[in-house]
Amino acid sequence: MSQPLLEVNNLKKHFPITGGVFGKQIGAVKAVDGVSFSVNEGETLGLVGESGCGKSTTGRMLLKLLEPTEGEVRFNGKDLTKLSGGEMRKIRRDMQMVFQDPYASLNPRHTVEKIIEEPMLVHGIEKDSKKRKKRVVELLKTVGLSGYHAKRYPHQFSGGQRQRIGIARALAVKPKLIIADEPVSALDVSVQAQVLNLLQDLQKEFDLTYVFIAHDLGVVRHISDRVGVMYLGKIAELADSEKLYEKPLHPYTQALLSAVPIPDVDHEKDRVMLQGDVPSPSNPPSGCPFHTRCPKVMDVCKKVVPTFQEVEENHYVACHLYEEDKSI
Ligand code: SF4
Repeated sequence: MSQPLLEVNNLKKHFPITGGVFGKQIGAVKAVDGVSFSVNEGETLGLVGESGCGKSTTGRMLLKLLEPTEGEVRFNGKDLTKLSGGEMRKIRRDMQMVFQDPYASLNPRHTVEKIIEEPMLVHGIEKDSKKRKKRVVELLKTVGLSGYHAKRYPHQFSGGQRQRIGIARALAVKPKLIIADEPVSALDVSVQAQVLNLLQDLQKEFDLTYVFIAHDLGVVRHISDRVGVMYLGKIAELADSEKLYEKPLHPYTQALLSAVPIPDVDHEKDRVMLQGDVPSPSNPPSGCPFHTRCPKVMDVCKKVVPTFQEVEENHYVACHLYEEDKSI
């Protein structure tokens, strides 16, 4: 069993809400509210949930692009929340991010060469200009593009090609961990599979570890070793990918999975329709955060927060259905 490269303990991000004449804090948006997980070397952890569930905020805190309100992020044993700016800069080389919208994340005025070179310059990786440009060409080839693309600008590429450029830029510093934040959501379905395959190939070739964020369980199914399902800033269920898809335990995961189309299977009859919208993270429901929409809600759910616990080997769930004592 490989070692955890990343360990996250009770991570929280609360954004203050201010009001009144003096701008006093009158509340907080609990975007992430006590998330814990670990990711082993060479593994892919999928983080899935509807928009506003806190998955992207979690991803940003892993890289310290956002300062956590509370909790620990350990990378290779070091707690990143305690590192100085200089120490964090060194570690950031090992942790890179691939963004959802490859167009917005690539500077439109820079050539692809300049875009891919930039992180190498920032981290002082290849100081010789000729060697650096040679490496840009190698990286372009690695992600399925050609050397001549180096002199072009982002607008001259398709969405899928632009995402390949974003991946090449992330690879330029030889990272250990890549946080991929909805990397295929903005792409056509036909292109999504190509980019997912590329990410899988690169993982094998460069021993990469991934945290793969998506809003669709269908997308993360084949790429993830384990999957965490988030709801209102918390992890509702976390399990090996196979277990989660075959035997989801949390009613929210069951509902999400029932909406994933499976070819040749008419599961319209098994479909669980969720009632209502996701409540606001500034005013989350009492007890289980999912109780306002859960088809299996019990009295206890409205009052007591369920414990996130291991109910089968490597299968964690936060739901009173799996707790011994269901009384209030
Ligand atoms: Fe549903 Fe209750 Fe489980 Fe929450 S704790 S998911 S409301 S059954």
